[in-house]
Amino acid sequence: MTERFQNFIDGKWVDAANGTTFDDINPANKTDILGSFPRSDHRDVDRAVEAVKAHFPKWRRVPAPRRAEILFRTGEILVRRKEELAQLMTREMGKVLKESRGDVQEAIDMIYYIAGEGRRLWGETTPSELPDKFAMTLRVPLGVVGVIAPWNFPLAIPTWKLAPALVAGNTAVFKPAEDTPLMGVRLVEILLEAGLPPGVVNLVHGFGEEAGAPLVRHPDVALISFTGSSEVGREVAIACAAEHKRVSLEMGGKNPILVMEDADLDLAVDGTIWGGFGTSGQRCTASSRILVHKKVVKEFADRLLTKAQGLRLGDGLSPSTDVGPVINETQLKRIHGYSKIGLKEGAKLLCGGEIYREGECKKGFFYSPTVFADVTPKMRISKEEIFGPTVAVLPVASLDEAIEVANASRYGLSSAIYTRDINKAFRAIEMLGAGITYVNASTIGAEVHLPFGGIRQTGNGHREGGRQVMDIFTEWKTVYIDYSGKLQRAQIDVS
Ligand code: NAD
Repeated sequence: MTERFQNFIDGKWVDAANGTTFDDINPANKTDILGSFPRSDHRDVDRAVEAVKAHFPKWRRVPAPRRAEILFRTGEILVRRKEELAQLMTREMGKVLKESRGDVQEAIDMIYYIAGEGRRLWGETTPSELPDKFAMTLRVPLGVVGVIAPWNFPLAIPTWKLAPALVAGNTAVFKPAEDTPLMGVRLVEILLEAGLPPGVVNLVHGFGEEAGAPLVRHPDVALISFTGSSEVGREVAIACAAEHKRVSLEMGGKNPILVMEDADLDLAVDGTIWGGFGTSGQRCTASSRILVHKKVVKEFADRLLTKAQGLRLGDGLSPSTDVGPVINETQLKRIHGYSKIGLKEGAKLLCGGEIYREGECKKGFFYSPTVFADVTPKMRISKEEIFGPTVAVLPVASLDEAIEVANASRYGLSSAIYTRDINKAFRAIEMLGAGITYVNASTIGAEVHLPFGGIRQTGNGHREGGRQVMDIFTEWKTVYIDYSGKLQRAQIDVS
């Protein structure tokens, strides 16, 4: 019997108003159903927004250090339950266990880091241009925040958003991705166990058009914090513009690794394997374009091929697995479609390029790690986000050409350069058009206390992580206090 999970609205676990549900499927074994979840619509969203709106005046008046204590306790529960949550995460979305542990750890890191903001949330003081007058700035909460998350970091990404939202005094409606609703349930349960008053965060499950879009359009939602594809992010931004709503968007990537002729090739290959095939390539920061100096491209491709062919596919819970499944059947077909496109465009398939159905893998959605060589910048496989275990190797003649090719992308999230030449490294740092640049490390591996985000169609100018994240979840209030006891006029009384 499939376990039935619910929405959390106004302090109660409830079904969708329309009574319908959807199943949560283990991508490594589609006969393993983790549970059924409410397929919510605008009625559930309306109720959730109403509930968290009602709780906002009280929550904003809880002193920030007290709000932060709840987050610290949340972090402690996550530490205690890390292994159990990691196992469940692998079952729900497929990535190998050590990466799921990393996802839970990232949530812990973010929660502890942001909880520290409870005793900071710094504003500024500055002199006034008039005597007997004091000037300062404060951060104030926005109100109701809508959190819309993807499935690839089902615990980390929601905490990147909910932790700063809550410490700042906002209340939130959280819509997890439809492929990972159970991690959403666990996170909300843990927040409640840590002492979060019911009603401060409400949870609404469901699909994008049915549950996400009504949250985006709702006039009482002050901010939408969205992570997902650039296509959906664009729709979200348009809908928010119509409501004059603040929107923070973290979207897709097509992240380049530059491998120069002087690079440590083994290190660059290791970085490509980790960045290209970790999480089966389903990371916004995945290394999907490898721009290799033509003097070393053959050697690099040979070594990459050897390592890629050695990767073992399987259930992420098995210790011998290197690469888990991809998230669902639609995505599996999409990835395979790109392999066909690559072949048609004339790229050279070095390995993979097929749906993997050996042994136990036939029960799930597995795709063989795929490497294309002789890729050119015009090919679709070097331009479009595939979000699967597919790596394109492009030969380049110089650092300048590599930078030009890297930057000719609609995305601009992460980037990396492998070189032993300090001059080349600094040139790349300066010129690569991306929110993040790594030197002699892969394109993945962000740390929570540094800003995270991208340019062009990857972002809309905000940064999550770091202290910069608080700019998304707070409004600046400027305060003047005149203690002169008389009318003083700025810009006029200037004797
Ligand atoms: P997606 O855009 O399909 O869905 C993301 C979320 O938006 C889901 O919760 C979905 O239900 C919801 N949604 C879909 N349509 C909606 C609509 N019309 N209105 C409101 N909400 C809607 O993305 P995905 O497949 O879940 O995730 C993969 C994408 O996310 C990739 O493009 C990846 O690069 C990106 N991503 C970006 C980052 C980042 O920080 N930049 C991190 C992780 C993933």
